[in-house]
Amino acid sequence: GYTDEPIIGPNFLETEQIIKAFNALLKRMKVLDDSRQEFVSNVSHELKTPITSMKVLADSLLAQENVPNEVYKDFMVDIVSEIDREDKIINDLLSLVKMDKTSADLNITSVDVVELVEIVCKRLRPIAVKHNIELTLESKRAVTAEIDEVKISLVVMNLVENAIKYNKDKGQVKVEVDADQQFFVVKVMDTGMGIPKESLDHIYERFYRVEKSRSRQIGGTGLGLAIVRNAILMHRGTIDVDSEVDKGTTFTVKIPLIYTNQK
Ligand code: ADP
Repeated sequence: GYTDEPIIGPNFLETEQIIKAFNALLKRMKVLDDSRQEFVSNVSHELKTPITSMKVLADSLLAQENVPNEVYKDFMVDIVSEIDREDKIINDLLSLVKMDKTSADLNITSVDVVELVEIVCKRLRPIAVKHNIELTLESKRAVTAEIDEVKISLVVMNLVENAIKYNKDKGQVKVEVDADQQFFVVKVMDTGMGIPKESLDHIYERFYRVEKSRSRQIGGTGLGLAIVRNAILMHRGTIDVDSEVDKGTTFTVKIPLIYTNQK
């Protein structure tokens, strides 16, 4: 027969379950909100730092009468390097925000992975040379995969850049490309300063740096590995790190040869 009772009856057990679920949801929302607030506050801080430096530089230049040409130039060089830094932070943020959207944004094509890695290494070789680092590439076989070329280039670019940046004088960076039936693997090995154990869990977090001052001097934004991880996850791949302080670091990226959008 007909009844007025709601489909989900307000009996005690169900009410308790609903309240529990609701509280769990609130808690989850709070965690998300906290992490968003932290992100916004980090972004603001990171964007402000170069501006503050530029202002100090420009103010002190303006406070001086008849500035000699060389002094003027020195200040300008510093200001330009702060502008470059700001530019890098903004670009990294844009890459990251783009990748926070769904994997529907992936532009999947069939890509020659060895060639992709070669192009990245070629672009970074001048920086390696400048830092006195030997950069070598070994490809064990020809690899073609269905990937987003731009995003995977960004992955390899960031990893090799880090391997150069956090290396030591006359250090080495080895990049290796290999594949099996299902995955291709890109390994980036360096003979650099390494990452302390307690930092390994944090390196993929946005703005995390092992040692803030050291990394800032070297010129990082703390966003590189967050971008790397996002791009890899979008491809349903994995990233692993193996590191020993003062010996070096190896990042291993593993990505399916065929892209599937299913869980
Ligand atoms: P950054 O822009 O500072 O390089 P990343 O997100 O790329 O930021 O890396 C996070 C931190 O992890 C870096 O600040 C650095 O301390 C550490 N790190 C990353 N790659 C390496 C590496 N190859 N060797 C040593 N430390 C590394």
